Amino acid sequence: MSETRLDFEQLQELEERYLMRTYKRAPVEFVRGEGTLVWDAEGKEYLDFLTGISVCSVGHCHPAVVEAAREQAGRLMHVSNLFYTEPMVRLAERLSEASLGGRVFFSNSGTEANECAIKIARKHAHKRGIGKPEIVSFARDFHGRTYGALSATPKLAEDPAMAPMLPGFRSVPFDDAAALRAAVGESTAAVLIEPIQGEAGVYPLGEEALLAARQACDEAGALLIFDEIQTGVGRTGSLWAYEQTPVRPDVLTSAKALGGGLPIGACVTSPEAGEVLEPGDHGSTFAGGPVVAAAALAVLGVVDDAALLRQVRDHGATLREALLALDGVEEVRGRGLMLGVGLAEGIDAAALAADLLERGLIVNVPESGTLRLLPPLTVDVAQIERAAALIAAALLSSYTR
Ligand code: PLP
Repeated sequence: MSETRLDFEQLQELEERYLMRTYKRAPVEFVRGEGTLVWDAEGKEYLDFLTGISVCSVGHCHPAVVEAAREQAGRLMHVSNLFYTEPMVRLAERLSEASLGGRVFFSNSGTEANECAIKIARKHAHKRGIGKPEIVSFARDFHGRTYGALSATPKLAEDPAMAPMLPGFRSVPFDDAAALRAAVGESTAAVLIEPIQGEAGVYPLGEEALLAARQACDEAGALLIFDEIQTGVGRTGSLWAYEQTPVRPDVLTSAKALGGGLPIGACVTSPEAGEVLEPGDHGSTFAGGPVVAAAALAVLGVVDDAALLRQVRDHGATLREALLALDGVEEVRGRGLMLGVGLAEGIDAAALAADLLERGLIVNVPESGTLRLLPPLTVDVAQIERAAALIAAALLSSYTR
């Protein structure tokens, strides 16, 4: 950068003046990252156990991802979806072969991947003669911020300031197999669910609800859509979370970790669901561009590896055990390296996370009473032990505050 650096006060002043007030940012400016570590503008080091909300899953600036993006950016950045580019086609092949075996639509974010899934579901239903197709989700699911995905996000869809939502969405209580079965019927286009709710606080769906969803969709001729935007690309210790469940969806959506830090999403289908959309039904100027596709191929080169996925499961178990041994931790939910830490009554999770940031550990608070940990899949045992020790110390001081 040629301009003189802004000091933190100037940064805050400009942010306050020019950015829309949609985020409450923590008071720290990050300037560099490598693996599990990031550094702020003062040179202070942090262990990143949030990874930009499960985005930098192969660690910050993974050399293979950096090299793939750098090389591609120097050769060809963009031509649009009106032409062929090799990284996009190779990535679609890799995603399809490593999951549902159908077709892929690329997007630039998670919410857009879900928009594609919603279009597939509605068109699939119209083809079956359903005039007013419905999509069923679980309460507290999070599917994104654009209007289709937002309408499928029950909690946010209630906000009167954003009304009206899209019609044709309904929700049932979380993990309630009977309620789900009862909600799925003649006009159901799809059941759209997170196999493990992430933004709600890390709550895995039980097997009964998963099986009920699959069975109800089969009986109604509806599509089962898994939103794997947070759970996918190795986060739970398998490439996709559905692999550790008794069911297989017809459509899955991915984003976040897929680009290793660059914005890319994907809607991946079964062979049958892949035939639904035709030319003109959907599109995106940027999506699947050569740079992000090259980066995603590099990410899958690292993550789609049996040894790494086993390590995610093992390190997840190590982290879980270390957390469960701490005074003030009531329960640890989740799978692999996607963990929600339920705190004892009376502990202020937001204050605890702020204290941890001070101590050099980045986590977040998806709901009151829960810390969410999403470390890189490449985290090592020493870093896990260091994080657990920092949480132990912060918990101890929260009792004496
Ligand atoms: N779906 C799930 C399960 C998510 O966790 C998120 C983001 O947190 C989204 C969808 C939306 O993704 P994006 O913010 O990339 O639009």
